[in-house]
Amino acid sequence: MKVYTKKAIWLFSIFLLISSFILQAGDKIDPILWKKALKLHDEAIVIDTHSDTPMALLAEEMDMGKKNNKGEVDFIRMKEGGLDAMFWAAFVSNSNDEKQPSRVALDLIDEIYQQVDRNPNLARIALSPTDIYEIHKEGKRAILIGMENGSPIENSLRFLRDFYRLGVRYITLTHNSNNAICDSSTADKPKWNGLSPFGIEMVKEMNRIGMIVDISHVSDKTFWDVIQLSRAPVMASHSCVRAICDVPRNMTDEMIRALAQKGGVIQINFYSSFLDSQYNKKFEETRKALEPEINKLRETYKNDRSAVWREMSKLFKEKGPSAPPIETLIDHIDHVVKLVGVDYVGLGSDFDGAGSFPIGLEDVSGYPLITYHLLKRGYKEADIKKILGGNFLRVFNSVIQVSKEMTSAK
Ligand SMILES: [Zn+2]
Repeated sequence: MKVYTKKAIWLFSIFLLISSFILQAGDKIDPILWKKALKLHDEAIVIDTHSDTPMALLAEEMDMGKKNNKGEVDFIRMKEGGLDAMFWAAFVSNSNDEKQPSRVALDLIDEIYQQVDRNPNLARIALSPTDIYEIHKEGKRAILIGMENGSPIENSLRFLRDFYRLGVRYITLTHNSNNAICDSSTADKPKWNGLSPFGIEMVKEMNRIGMIVDISHVSDKTFWDVIQLSRAPVMASHSCVRAICDVPRNMTDEMIRALAQKGGVIQINFYSSFLDSQYNKKFEETRKALEPEINKLRETYKNDRSAVWREMSKLFKEKGPSAPPIETLIDHIDHVVKLVGVDYVGLGSDFDGAGSFPIGLEDVSGYPLITYHLLKRGYKEADIKKILGGNFLRVFNSVIQVSKEMTSAK
């Protein structure tokens, strides 16, 4: 009874919160559908496979156990948004390659553990699908560790295994430029024509130890190399559909078909520039116009990348294009479902790492809106649960299964 009362209060407060977002967006809420959405959202295991929160935490003193207005993520707002599990990515930029990328990753991973240790009543580290189910039952937030950019592996399969032992469960093979593992989708020209010789060994070892291979950010050729090589299903932890928004970071229909055929999943990114080509075009125009101001920021904050990032976000919020409606995000989900079925799509926000998100989805408290809009579009409840987290859990389980088969085979 006590639990029910708490839940009722939670549902009511989230109702107020989201209603205000919807009113801002100029849309009208259907109260009956909204109630249905909240119930379904509460029952579902909602999983987000990508945020850059650790980077923000390392740059600034924050307690994830308190609501903070500096970033888009904290345990309190995760609960408000009914977000049960989230991958926090230890993101290391390729520009850190010259220094010690493994050390940067270790610092970030330590920060994740510290935040969770500080808030044992609110969150727990999850290492497996079983952990996610258990933590969900406890009513806490499950925090999982991802690694964005494999540069901290520093060409060592020993490092790869060590990071797995520390709790890392997926690695995004590269970031915005080529690294020692593979080519990036946003590099000027390829270095390896796909996976490097070390990259090939690394993907094999990832399969063997049960580390999820994340193909977000990689070049198309790298994607095809991975699809051919990987024995386990692979994931795009935060990518969108290129047929809707034509940027190299997004996946073509052919790639989505191949990903699905392998049993993988594309987790849709919430970043406005990857969702909406009109927004992206205007954003690039604004970026060009703001170049002198951005250069000034770089000069002022020198090596403090996160300060530059924070100030740039402010600048773009003020002078950049307005964010797309949430329906644009639903269009991407819908496209994947129409192309390959409902079993291969999920959510990977890119919160604390992107800057602009659809209206109403500015932070982790907005997730129930996705459920609402999927219902509105006629999706069945069981299918919505798959999109919210079930599909990712299947991939996670399957990667573990492949690892078991490979390690038991003599
Ligand atoms: Zn990214």
